[in-house]
Amino acid sequence: MKSVARGRRLVLFISALILAINFMSFNCLAEENKKVILIDPGHGGMDGGAVSKSGVNEKDINLKIGLLLKGELESMGYEVCMTRESDEGLYSDNGTVRQKKIEDLNKRCNMKKNSNCDLFISIHIDKFQDPKLCGIGAWYSNNPESEKLANIIHENIKKDVNEKNKRLPKPAKEAYKVLRCNDTMPGIIMECGFISNPKELENLVNSDYQKLLATTFAKSIKQYFEGYEVKVEEEKVDSGIN
Ligand SMILES: [Zn+2]
Repeated sequence: MKSVARGRRLVLFISALILAINFMSFNCLAEENKKVILIDPGHGGMDGGAVSKSGVNEKDINLKIGLLLKGELESMGYEVCMTRESDEGLYSDNGTVRQKKIEDLNKRCNMKKNSNCDLFISIHIDKFQDPKLCGIGAWYSNNPESEKLANIIHENIKKDVNEKNKRLPKPAKEAYKVLRCNDTMPGIIMECGFISNPKELENLVNSDYQKLLATTFAKSIKQYFEGYEVKVEEEKVDSGIN
């Protein structure tokens, strides 16, 4: 009996320890007045995301840009949390692929809440059948602040990365759970280009270009917190009446 009780105590202790570790890793303790930014490099582990013809995995580029962005933001004085900092998914070893994907997404959603973040940015790369399709685009969440952030990023992309970038920020509406869930802070998904476009892929694997994207995102986040707003020209509605 004694050993059973001891065994139970051990199980309880280990459970408490796991809980504590989880809590610590999900909680970014920011100094007062320091803004917390949660960066989410998309995919990871068994989930490579989009793959180029030459075998480049989206998850690896997402992580590189995410880590560079972390460095930029930290040097500006922000507190940064990451959903992942290595090539791993946020799932446990047991379970089917589908269960792992659900667990992974749920954990990213929980981190938005538990990190107490002031801003959420998820990093992804697009893929399309037509290799000609290119450009950087933002999906913004239903939180009214998200569109402001997306507009600033798009303006800076034109200024600093590619003046010919034609893509416009788009509302994600109900499309992406990672934006929809715990939507209490500005949240966007950055699609950093097309892995299926040879020229864009060449850029995306280049560390200078990755750094340029990271500095552009960081600069935009800073401007957003400083209250900068892009003046979006009001659509000229042609009523047909002169
Ligand atoms: Zn992706």
